[in-house]
Amino acid sequence: MTVAAERIDRLHELARAAAADGDTDRARYYVRLARRIAERNRLALPREFRRFTCDACDAYLRPGRNARVRTRDGHVVITCDCGAQARYPYEE
Ligand SMILES: [Zn+2]
Repeated sequence: MTVAAERIDRLHELARAAAADGDTDRARYYVRLARRIAERNRLALPREFRRFTCDACDAYLRPGRNARVRTRDGHVVITCDCGAQARYPYEE
């Protein structure tokens, strides 16, 4: 694992912890930092990171708190409080 990938993992953990503490601004800050590192290093963000972050506002998503989750037509639809939606196929 590269140093950049490790930093992204670490920032993901920090974002998750900040979101769990209810500190959404700090969580967003970590999410943005991780995205920037991924971009600069041309790394793909881990799938879990992509699933739990909002593409529009960079919030770390916590279903039931700042995001709603619905299943529809074989997809999971996550709606962030900012209104952005993301769809993913069901996973096995
Ligand atoms: Zn959002």
